[in-house]
Amino acid sequence: MALSDYEPVIGLEVHCQLKTRTKSFCACPVVFGAPPNSAVCPVCLGYPGVLPVLNREMVTLAMRVALATGSEIQERSVFARKNYFYPDLPKGYQISQLDRPLAVGGHVPVRTSGGERPIRLSRIHLEEDAGKLMHEFPWDDVPTGASLVDLNRAGTPLIEIVSEPEIRSGDEAWDYLNRLRRIVRYVDASDGNMEEGSLRCDANVSVRRKGAVPLGTKVEVKNLNSINHVRKAIEHEVERQAGTLDRGGAVVQETRLWHPETGTTRPMRSKEEAMDYRYFPDPDLGTLEVDGEWKQGVAESMPELPDARVARLVLQYGLPLADADTICLSRPLADWFEAAALAHPSNPKGVANWLLSELLSRIGDADRQAGRVPLAPAALARLVARIDDGTISGKIGKELLPLLIDSGKDPDELIREKGLVQVTDEGEIRGVVEGVVGANPQQAAAFRAGKTQALGWFVGQVMKASGGKANPAIVNRLLKERLEQG
Ligand code: ADP
Ligand code: ZN
Ligand code: MG
Repeated sequence: MALSDYEPVIGLEVHCQLKTRTKSFCACPVVFGAPPNSAVCPVCLGYPGVLPVLNREMVTLAMRVALATGSEIQERSVFARKNYFYPDLPKGYQISQLDRPLAVGGHVPVRTSGGERPIRLSRIHLEEDAGKLMHEFPWDDVPTGASLVDLNRAGTPLIEIVSEPEIRSGDEAWDYLNRLRRIVRYVDASDGNMEEGSLRCDANVSVRRKGAVPLGTKVEVKNLNSINHVRKAIEHEVERQAGTLDRGGAVVQETRLWHPETGTTRPMRSKEEAMDYRYFPDPDLGTLEVDGEWKQGVAESMPELPDARVARLVLQYGLPLADADTICLSRPLADWFEAAALAHPSNPKGVANWLLSELLSRIGDADRQAGRVPLAPAALARLVARIDDGTISGKIGKELLPLLIDSGKDPDELIREKGLVQVTDEGEIRGVVEGVVGANPQQAAAFRAGKTQALGWFVGQVMKASGGKANPAIVNRLLKERLEQG
């Protein structure tokens, strides 16, 4: 049998750090990159006798994600203690939710070869993060085997978004994570940054014979630090499992770590495996109640969601779906586009084309996400308007763009300053046409003998002679007339 005889089955568990100002159960600020152990207090250090107080903002942000994914917010949910020992967890337990999560169900659509398909969510629950351990220090020449503990992150609010095992390929997982990241960013719940760890993903992977109904034994893959790594790790793991089954072996249920250097997964030490967390309801926090008023308030504060915005851009501005999708990568970028489109309402498609082909190619992903386009929306609108009204040609417009970006000047000012106004005066263009045709009698004869491609060559010569400023449509027409005359 071959790899293609097996169907991959994937379920993703995504941890997403919420953008609150303070931690889950204390007033410590949520900070990134602060001096170690500078944002801690008796509550998040787990001192005895302290009482946690739930951060309302944490719940509100989680509810925004739930509403955005159609996950049903539960009137009552319960915090549970997940007990285990690790040096980054001074309390000896993590506060999480087990059998009564904040929200149940929902879905994230993914793009497949056969169109869009919803991947259902099983749940969205609240939990707190642990601290961070550092095992290697830059000031150590020789590894000492020691570790340092930084508890700034301890108690940081997270949600875990758990999908049903309905993802069928690394590509679908890639799309799922991109869509989910876009959602959490649109609703301002999270930075959604995988590299900085505000979005973390564990992939559960199994394979089964095509057509088989029962699920195969799953492997949980950890240490996935980017969306691309998730895709690669899944593809590798599917191949490994299919190979094992093909040779008559069995897949072992275990946790494996992705090793990006080798592009393979390897079992995690089994000591950390079979844990019994002895979950029980946290007696200090009790039941979390979300009443209708709270839910209503959050619902009313929701922004337009990415899929809805894509659909609206297609409808309102006549954009192709793929273009609208690229523009809706982030809210700031879509805002930028709409500001430019509204400043030149007669040709929003032209504005979109310039943004997509000329401006986005100049900036990287971080700038695209932040909507840091190197030109003001009004300036692009003005530039496209000047092309549309014939003041300059598209070609001159492209030459002008870097100057506009560098100078920050108004397009009209720059066009005047550089003397780039397009020549539409027929008499003037006719003069240039005369000169060029007169100087090239052989090509003119060739055209009349039926070599019609010569026209293109003539157009090029006339444009060149006019410094690119002649209106190409007029050049074409006058040249044709002149050449056909003989
Ligand atoms: P566990 O009890 O091991 O935590 P869950 O049922 O809670 O397992 O599922 C955890 C994640 O694993 C979910 O995202 C789920 O979709 C996924 N999953 C469950 N079974 C499989 C399977 N056989 N193959 C792939 N993914 C699976
Ligand atoms: Zn604290
Ligand atoms: Mg589970």
